[in-house]
Amino acid sequence: MPLLVMKFGGTSVADLDRIKNAAEKVKREVERGYDVIVIVSAMSGKTNELVGWVEQTSPLYDAREYDAVVASGENVTAGLMALTLQEMDVPARSWQGWQVPIQTTSAHASARFVDIPRGNIDQKFAEGMKVAVVAGFQGVSPEGRITTLGRGGSDTTAVAFAAAFGAERCDIYTDVDGIYTTDPRITAKARKLEKIAFEEMLELASLGAKVLQTRSVELAMRYKVRLRVLSSFEDSDANSGTLVCDEEEIMESKVVSGVAYSRDEAKMTLVSVEDRPGIAAAIFSPLAEAGVNVDMIVQNISEKNYEGHSVAVTDMTFSCPINQVARARKAMEDAKAAGEINFDELVEDTEVAKVSVVGIGMRSHAGVAAKMFDALSVEGINIKVISTSEIKISVLIDRKYMELAVQALHDAFELDTAA
Ligand code: ADP
Ligand code: ASP
Ligand code: MG
Repeated sequence: MPLLVMKFGGTSVADLDRIKNAAEKVKREVERGYDVIVIVSAMSGKTNELVGWVEQTSPLYDAREYDAVVASGENVTAGLMALTLQEMDVPARSWQGWQVPIQTTSAHASARFVDIPRGNIDQKFAEGMKVAVVAGFQGVSPEGRITTLGRGGSDTTAVAFAAAFGAERCDIYTDVDGIYTTDPRITAKARKLEKIAFEEMLELASLGAKVLQTRSVELAMRYKVRLRVLSSFEDSDANSGTLVCDEEEIMESKVVSGVAYSRDEAKMTLVSVEDRPGIAAAIFSPLAEAGVNVDMIVQNISEKNYEGHSVAVTDMTFSCPINQVARARKAMEDAKAAGEINFDELVEDTEVAKVSVVGIGMRSHAGVAAKMFDALSVEGINIKVISTSEIKISVLIDRKYMELAVQALHDAFELDTAA
């Protein structure tokens, strides 16, 4: 029997009517002759509420208990979806992660898949079940504790199931009808793409375009999963939405194909750090151990007058997600107290955002950075930190200019028109 994976995000299962709408889409595929694995998210807003409860209860929480709490949102939807399908005479049952069992690492709140054994679900399909509804975003660690995959992780559950079960396609149903040149909420000029290359989507996702979780794109690329993003709010057919595929399948070739942003960034600067070999390791090792995801790094060498001598010092600036600032601060203060590093001051800027342009065409075109910086300067936007790779350029700017920056870059690279 051919098999499809259909994933429904939070807004697509936001209430009982939306669940019914999603279930109707599933039923249609069953009628077309497919077995279906449905991956569900928590109802819209639910995970944020659960995270809020955890943070209120324990600011530097035990990640194992965080996972126990936040995984519960998906459990509710999985059961409700299975019940809804049963009411429509579609043989269906639900699975929580541990029942499959979806085996993951024990990196709580950012666990990775280790194995998805097919046996339990295959057996039920063999017995006549048509739809397996699986709670997204979760799994179980080798220690038998509930794990979650990081925000947006149900996308990754969907792709991993599509790979494990050899699905014909993995359809990600969401609240937009595809992947756009930038977030359509930021500019009405955003243009829907027919197709996008895995590598570009990977960059866009990792730079903040939350339409797909980064790890889901990585897995799809590695296991050659046909991955599609489409709307649960519209009727769809085989050509709806945006296909994420190999570069070779794409005709359109622009130098820049998309603009991404990440609102929740923070910039931290260690002022007057002693400049010596090993200092970067002494700073970034404790940050890594504390689970801080450092992104951009800049180092400025300067001189400081110390007891009449001029000594070389450095200001070390790094960016990280805003919700990791407290952990980062503690890691730095602990390292200072332990005598591992020395700095005068730790300056935090929690009013920044990251804006990035992405495109595989950048590999063979010069001048993209200049054009980007020029477009920002015309708008009077100051760049605080820059980082580049082969197919992207990112800048850190004041958060209040984020929308303006995205719009200006979208215009500058003429993304509203096809190549
Ligand atoms: P779901 O709850 O279905 O997983 P998400 O909110 O995680 O949905 O992702 C969908 C959202 O991603 C859209 O509503 C849109 O605002 C945002 N988004 C960001 N960048 C893009 C982009 N380039 N194309 C489409 N949507 C994008
Ligand atoms: N419910 C989880 C979240 O909001 C996972 C997901 O929706 O993909 O992050
Ligand atoms: Mg999502």
